[in-house]
Amino acid sequence: MRTIDHFIGGGSFASGERQGDVFNPSQGDVQATVRLGTPTDLQKAIDAANQALPGWAATNPQRRARVMFNFKALVEKNMDELAAILSSEHGKVIADAKGDIQRGLEVIEFACGIPHALKGEYTQGAGPGIDVYSMRQPLGICVGITPFNFPAMIPMWMFGVAIACGNAFILKPSERDPTVPVRLAELMKEAGLPDGILNVVHGDKEMVDAILDHPDVKAISFVGSSDIAQYIYSRGTANGKRVQAFGGAKNHGIVMPDADLDQVVSDLTGAAFGSAGERCMALPVVVPVGEKTANNLREKLIPAIEGLKVGVSSDPEAHYGPVVNEAHKNRVEDWIQTCADEGGELVVDGRGFTLQGSEKGFFVGPTLFDHVQPHFRSYQEEIFGPVLQIVRAPDFETAVRLPSEHQYGNGVAIFTRNGHAAREFAARVNVGMVGINVPIPVPVAYHTFGGWKRSGFGDTNQHGMEGVKFWTKVKTITQRWPDGSGLGDENAFVIPTMG
Ligand code: NAD
Repeated sequence: MRTIDHFIGGGSFASGERQGDVFNPSQGDVQATVRLGTPTDLQKAIDAANQALPGWAATNPQRRARVMFNFKALVEKNMDELAAILSSEHGKVIADAKGDIQRGLEVIEFACGIPHALKGEYTQGAGPGIDVYSMRQPLGICVGITPFNFPAMIPMWMFGVAIACGNAFILKPSERDPTVPVRLAELMKEAGLPDGILNVVHGDKEMVDAILDHPDVKAISFVGSSDIAQYIYSRGTANGKRVQAFGGAKNHGIVMPDADLDQVVSDLTGAAFGSAGERCMALPVVVPVGEKTANNLREKLIPAIEGLKVGVSSDPEAHYGPVVNEAHKNRVEDWIQTCADEGGELVVDGRGFTLQGSEKGFFVGPTLFDHVQPHFRSYQEEIFGPVLQIVRAPDFETAVRLPSEHQYGNGVAIFTRNGHAAREFAARVNVGMVGINVPIPVPVAYHTFGGWKRSGFGDTNQHGMEGVKFWTKVKTITQRWPDGSGLGDENAFVIPTMG
């Protein structure tokens, strides 16, 4: 059986006593094992990064950007292979796996413009004979800790900007689908990145704790579930590191009475069930405003959901594939039971779904609940599966309040033809990313991504200029070049002012 090794100093590194199973979720069997690293393995990556760092930080930004251009071309050339591996370990269908890679590549395209993004500010004549300017400098060794659900996109969001800014990077990908992250590091090497600037270490809590406590790690970007995000944020910042930690989600789709319901149903089925609901920007809650809207929406949703095709991840006809592993399948099915026990009306039940020829696969059929209430635990918590809950709202005010008061605040969408309602909603809702007739409002690479409340800990978003800010520190220089006349020295004992 294949073993997935660490990638350190430009080559594979086989260490770590413990190993974890990597499944093929479509078939339900183990297809590889991955090394679960130790603090000693992390130290090896830190040593490689420290050795390479001065040279890379001193490389001019244009040359660093050229590596990104080469990498983009290589990922495009290897797209089919990468998508096939990603799909076989994660379970998302091939077209969706390509989307995962493409959305990561778009941040690499942004990183190709790093010479422009890194330019500082300059004020000539801030005082008599005085100029002030700023520069952005790399932090040193940075780390990304990533979730299973976007094994290409999220690593690229992180290492693309961090490395272009002149840092060395250690990626600790999810141990559930670790092959693509290693392939990406190999392609970065092929693109011309010096050895040691991008390392991949595998592991679980033991490796993550070693990262959180290592004095040479200057910044950590984390994406995963909220309890772990909060833990990473607390322990990392207590150790003096810069940390951003993005967590779970429960995104709502508000449907106003004037919305185009056919369009809404098409958008909703994709956003709720695509990738088996395993997206932090999925739409697992729909909030129709008014009973008539709710009844009409429900009537159109049922046949659309019953028409979805669940299949193995390599099936080009399938709308979505299996969930990531058996434990997660059981968890999602338990949530379905909980919601039914709490009083939700189970309209379409996806439990007990089996696929002929793939009986051991981790499949969950599409599930629809109506009459879900805000006090249900199954509404308050993230399910992260192909389960859509209808929460009926009597009016617009209730529809604004529901996502605003929810513990998560990642994304939200409103479907309407009324520009005034949409504008009001966008301004007032207490959520970080808003879609107006856009079901999955993941901002483009040169804007930034980040949720609010328990969906994001820290104060800086991912990618775009916020990413550049996160992965650099700013230095501000105040200069004067006296001409030797002694003028301007009179107030040497007073705090300098420009008055
Ligand atoms: P997870 O929290 O289980 O794992 C994320 C990372 O943390 C992995 O690398 C894992 O190895 C590590 N980890 C797991 N347990 C740990 C522990 N006890 N101590 C230290 N490290 C630990 O998340 P997941 O199941 O891989 O991903 C799904 C979650 O990620 C969902 O909650 C989803 O909403 C969230 N997510 C959020 C965003 C966002 O941008 N907000 C994006 C994608 C996914």
